[in-house]
Parts: sequence; structure tokens; C-alpha cells
Amino acid sequence: MNPFKFSNPTKILFGRGQVEEIKNEIPSYGRRILLLYGGGSIKKNGLYDDVIKALSEITDVYITELGGVEPNPRLTTVNKGIDLIKENNLDFILAVGGGSVIDCAKAIAVGVYYEGDVWDIVTNKATAAKAVPFGTILTISATGSEVNGGSVITNWEEKDKRFFVSDLTFPKFSVLDPENTFSVPQNQTVYGMVDIMSHVFEQYFHASSNAPLQERFGESILQTTMEVAPKLINDLGNYDYREVIMLNASLALNGILSMGVHTDWATHMIEHAVSAVHDIPHGGGLAILFPNWMEFVASKRPEKVAQLGIRVFGIDAKDKNDSDVAAETIQKLREFWTSLGAPGKLSDYGIDDTEIGIMLERAMVAETLGSYVPLNKNDVETILRKSL
Ligand code: NAP
Ligand code: FE
Repeated sequence: MNPFKFSNPTKILFGRGQVEEIKNEIPSYGRRILLLYGGGSIKKNGLYDDVIKALSEITDVYITELGGVEPNPRLTTVNKGIDLIKENNLDFILAVGGGSVIDCAKAIAVGVYYEGDVWDIVTNKATAAKAVPFGTILTISATGSEVNGGSVITNWEEKDKRFFVSDLTFPKFSVLDPENTFSVPQNQTVYGMVDIMSHVFEQYFHASSNAPLQERFGESILQTTMEVAPKLINDLGNYDYREVIMLNASLALNGILSMGVHTDWATHMIEHAVSAVHDIPHGGGLAILFPNWMEFVASKRPEKVAQLGIRVFGIDAKDKNDSDVAAETIQKLREFWTSLGAPGKLSDYGIDDTEIGIMLERAMVAETLGSYVPLNKNDVETILRKSL
């Protein structure tokens, strides 16, 4: 293992009825609240009313709302939030939604205290020095953003999607009530589970040695997700299934899997480039790209893909070499995601090679991507072309 520091200060409030708790959590940080949410799902499923009721029990509460945060949240919306906080002297952000709303809250939180354009922070040209405190009420199990300091923001005008990570952007608390995810439609539920599994892969394929516990943790998240996923897509309102996936999502990206290891994240970088140009759902993009990334990687270093296949996909490796087991693993992964209804090709989203040049340019945020097998521009192009 590499030397590492670990701190995860986010308080998790897990289970039925926990939304009410926000009235006890928020006042220690502020009473002038920016209530941030997405395109309206919380108004349809009644969560908005529950939130307003709980907030109204806070003495002297003042609420300003900003709805309409886009999936793949945009810089323009971040800037609207920053302006609202400054104009109304707000001191707390409550993000009610999925990764997009939460990521937007994080960028707003640091942007308020930054003199220049918050895009400088998102692109790591500047470092956040201070943040408005915020809490989250999660409505879809996917990103783990509810328990980490990462934020992914799209600059639609520039066709760029970038991320920053800061110790200042961990939520103060996150309400994880599985019932709030009952209304997530089947396709988004699947994208979420693909994202969870992808987060494990990005950390499982690390470039360090001697991390058996982290790998076993990752494998157990994969196994649990794969066990529940087929049942959940046929029973979207099942509390037990939703609760298991919710915990899986958070534990996949709260930092434990990356303790002491140099993680990869190349596939996420490539997906960000695709969705920056084509605005497709994050998990949908990953379902297309990951098997192709794995195939490329297995052609150079098949052993870890084979380990994944043996331990998670139950492949019998007797009399087979690592390359054969890896090929079988990737086949099984494809079959599994396809069986859930995930897309398999970029053409499923109507994407052809017309804009491959700009996607490549956006993906290559550094000379090479990833660490398990560092990818140069040609390698990324190979993966993108195989994904068409
Ligand atoms: P999302 O973009 O937040 O939401 C996707 C869709 O699901 C939206 O249309 C949303 O509708 C809907 N939805 C959410 N909750 C719902 C509910 N309870 N009922 C019905 N519909 C619901 O999805 P996400 O996968 O959580 O976030 C994706 C973003 O996070 C991407 O930008 C991705 O790059 C980023 N990401 C961040 C991290 C991180 O660690 N920070 C990690 C991976 C990915 P409404 O808008 O109407 O609510
Ligand atoms: Fe992700």
C-alpha cells in the first residue's frame, strides 16, 4: 500500500423517515437556505413537500429555491446558485436530488468565496479556500457524491465536462432514505447500478500492490449489486432492494476502496468527454465504454481482469490462461449489463464518429489517462472507436 490519509466527515442519516432530521441538523450551520433540486421529480413524488415541512419547523428559517439543475449539471446553473446566495445572504445549501444536484451544490459552495470564475476551481486552475456548508437528501443511488468531496460540472458552451475534489466539499450530512428512490425509473436505476460497479472497477484496477482488503471490499460491493440488480429492476418499489443498492452506492465511493492505492479513473475521464459533447446519461456511457476499456487493458495485463472473473463472475479457470479468463469475464460483464437493459454501443445514443476528434481532445486532460494501464491518445481513440 502507499501511505495515505483518510477522513470522511459526512454524517449519514440512513433509513425511513430520516428527512425529518434535517430540522435538527441544519440550524448548527445556518438558517438562510438555498434549496437546490433538479427537473421536478421531487415535486411529483412528494419529497419536496416533506422537505418544506421539515424546514418550516426551523425557527427563523428563510428559503430561496433553485430548481432545474440539469442531469450533467451546467456551469450556468452553478453561477445562478452563486448569485442567489450572494444576493440573499444565504448561509446553507440543501441539495435534494442525485449526483447532479449534489455536484452542483458543491461547485456553488466553493464558488461563493472565489473572486474569479468558478470554472477555474472545477478545472483545477485554482484551489477552493472556503465553502458554504451544505447537506444532501439523496434521491437516486449511483454516484456516491453524497459521501465524497468530488464534483463534476459541464461547461456546455465549451463542450467540456471536468471535475474537482476538495476536503471542503464533503456534505455535512446526507439523508439516505431508500423510499426516496422508489420513483427512480428503470433506466435511471440501471444507470445508477452501472455507475456503482464502475466506481469499484476504477479503484479495483489500481496501480499499487498489496491491497487485498480493499479489493475484497470492492468484490463484495460488486457481488451484492449484481445479486440485487435483476430483482430490483422487476420490483422498483421494493424497500429491501433499494436499501441494499443505496448503501452499496455510498460505500463504493466514500474513500475506503481507494485507501493506499493509486486508482485508475480513465474510463470516467473518457465518459466525461463523451457526455460533454453529447449529453448522455453518465451510467449509460460507462456501460458502453467499460467493457471496451477492459478489453484493451486485458490485452496488456490480463491478470486482474481474470481475478475479477474468478472471484466475482464465478468463472472456472481450470486449464485456462489469464487472457482466456479475462475474455470470458468481459463477455459476462457485457451480458449482465445488457440483461439489465443498459446500452452497449454509442450508436444506441445516435453517436457516430463525427465528433470523435473533440471527444478525444476533451478526454486527454493529461498526457496519459489512468494508472493500471496508462492510456495515450491512440489508445483512447481505439477504445472510443470500438465503442461506436
Ligand atoms: P442525476 O443526473 O442526478 O439524475 C438523473 C435523472 O434521474 C434526472 O433526470 C432526475 O430527475 C432523475 N431522478 C433522480 N432521482 C429521482 C427520483 N427519486 N425519482 C424520479 N426521478 C429521479 O443522476 P446521477 O447518476 O446521480 O448523477 C449523474 C452526475 O453525477 C453526472 O454528471 C456524473 O458525471 C456525476 N458523477 C459524480 C460523481 C461524484 O462522486 N461526485 C461520481 C460519478 C458521477 P430530476 O432532475 O427531475 O430530479
Ligand atoms: Fe461515476
